[in-house]
Amino acid sequence: MNIILLGAPGAGKGTQARVLVEGRNMVQLSTGDMLRAARTSGTEMGKKVAAIMDAGQLVTDEIVIGLIAEQLDGDTKGGLIFDGFPRTLAQADALGDLLAAKGMELDAVVELRVDDEALVDRITGRFTCGNCGEVYHDRTKPTKVEGTCDVCGSHDLKRRADDNEDSLRQRLLEYYKKTSPLIGYYHCKGNLNAVDGLQAMEKVTADVAAALDA
Ligand code: AMP
Repeated sequence: MNIILLGAPGAGKGTQARVLVEGRNMVQLSTGDMLRAARTSGTEMGKKVAAIMDAGQLVTDEIVIGLIAEQLDGDTKGGLIFDGFPRTLAQADALGDLLAAKGMELDAVVELRVDDEALVDRITGRFTCGNCGEVYHDRTKPTKVEGTCDVCGSHDLKRRADDNEDSLRQRLLEYYKKTSPLIGYYHCKGNLNAVDGLQAMEKVTADVAAALDA
């Protein structure tokens, strides 16, 4: 089963993707993670996108479509989770074409709905483990021991450069202008499922599971 997790920055796409990877042996394809990896390894493309990402703007469709296309030849295991992709109508069309060319289908689109005020709080408090990817929050989910990941014991806890109020404002604007039209797009295609992303994490996970199993 191949799915898209759709939602504004901070809606919980990455968190829910991690649950699906563990529980259903799915493969998470996060264009944000791919772009951050390209920056860290210092590739030409990574250098090109760094300033755009820090400003909270979208990188070009060409770059992210290329990143996703490269991944479709790999092992798809229990299915693909598109996390943070597509973010524009052109990307959505391209994804449909890429999947069709591989004889694959998109089975569901899950929209995680969260209001803007909650997003600001979630984003400005969040940090992750650089080693295992566990996600934390200053107020709602701090580490048990300060500076140490509960899951793997790493001290490599990181905050994203674009998780600040200025970048977030721009990221939200990009979301409403360019990504939210995808809600109507997938509604028309008949595979949209909306989940209230403001509920407790376990409840969101249960609702996502119910949407996928429906
Ligand atoms: P994310 O980790 O999904 O929040 O993405 C972080 C940043 O990477 C975004 O603010 C964009 O600058 C860039 N990015 C990630 N995915 C895409 C995409 N599908 N299209 C354009 N830019 C993207």
